[in-house]
Amino acid sequence: MPATPAWPPQSAPRLFVETSLGQGATVALDGNPAHYLVSVMRVKVGDTVLLFDGKSGEWAAVARDVRKRDIVLECVAQTRPVEAVPDFWLCAAPIKKGRIDLIAEKACELGVARLQPVLTRRAVVDKLNLDRLRAHLVEAAEQCGRTALPELAEMVKLDVLLREWPEGRCLFFADETGGTPIAKALADHPGRAAFLVGPEGGFDPQERKAIRNHPAAVPVSLGPRILRAETAAIAATSTWMALNGDWTAE
Ligand code: SAH
Repeated sequence: MPATPAWPPQSAPRLFVETSLGQGATVALDGNPAHYLVSVMRVKVGDTVLLFDGKSGEWAAVARDVRKRDIVLECVAQTRPVEAVPDFWLCAAPIKKGRIDLIAEKACELGVARLQPVLTRRAVVDKLNLDRLRAHLVEAAEQCGRTALPELAEMVKLDVLLREWPEGRCLFFADETGGTPIAKALADHPGRAAFLVGPEGGFDPQERKAIRNHPAAVPVSLGPRILRAETAAIAATSTWMALNGDWTAE
């Protein structure tokens, strides 16, 4: 007997949509998403596409109507429930364009729940294009199989972040001047967490003092070398995921 081909096919395109998904829901797309499905992925009537909206899990949707610039799909089966995202925030100072984009992409792939841009004194960039950052988060989520997008928060100043810090969330502070070795710090502080990583120029002494004085802060060392901000963000997030996050599931 011939083997039944897998459905949905592994090659099915995977796309984030703003429309709420559910059994029988119809999704009409135009613009870039339609161009991607119709012209790039050559989706035809009857083909299957995987859709997710960030809150209803992932759905297999069948193309019902395909035109040059728009496409209509119907959700026929849920393929995955919405995931439980580990409760980890990455608080990162803005850095140059390509490098902050890299942080967004990797934060999404690694599993962060929230990306919180934080403005610090030595930041060389003081404005962020949140739409562009969000597009990077969406693209990474489509590619890595996430069913929930990381939340992208508005940029806040460091003093505001510290003042409004929620109770019960540990603020691991990546301090290039030294701190507790990361593996030990994480073992000592399980539970809700965030990592704070500085800009290219690091934190200034007053900022360092203010952070260290905060009751939730735990200064952490990422080793003897000075890492670039994006390397520090990726390394800190990876280590937290491996030791305290969802990479621990067998
Ligand atoms: N210009 C600074 C370095 C900034 S590195 C200097 O020369 O001292 C950018 C950010 O990455 C830092 O603010 C810190 O948050 C993080 N970082 C880099 N290396 C680190 C290390 N070895 N331990 C902890 N944090 C580090």
